[in-house]
Amino acid sequence: MRIGFGYDVHRFAEGRDLWLGGIKIPYHKGLLGHSDADVVIHAICDALLGAVALGDIGTHFPDTDSKYRGIDSKILLTETMKLVSKKGFAIQNIDTTIAIQVPKIAPYIEMMRSTLCVLLNIDIDQISIKATTTERLGFEGREEGVSAYAVVLLG
Ligand code: MG
Repeated sequence: MRIGFGYDVHRFAEGRDLWLGGIKIPYHKGLLGHSDADVVIHAICDALLGAVALGDIGTHFPDTDSKYRGIDSKILLTETMKLVSKKGFAIQNIDTTIAIQVPKIAPYIEMMRSTLCVLLNIDIDQISIKATTTERLGFEGREEGVSAYAVVLLG
């Protein structure tokens, strides 16, 4: 068994789409990043890579490489999962928390879970996604950005 932890932050910016957990969420701002800036998928990728001690998302998909500009993070997740499988591990479960003040993302959580479980080839009850505000404290609370935490157990 191996455990992995991932954490990521992206800031809000005008003129960007908001992608979280593989789902495009209607909002007047999105997250800024070299890729589509899906902070949830990035935290999961880092947890997966951490569990097999293969560095982090920046090691494998550097933001200096133009081939990753604007890339759909679902592709990064699929590529990351291939590395995990090659190491002989499978996902037991994933637990994720998104710290976000606005917009409310509760209506989209089930869609995120069903999207990600298909990509990862796991059952829906093996992936948990939770969201919390930060009670208006910190950068998430000031609506400046979004953070995500992920823990994964491999076996
Ligand atoms: Mg990121």
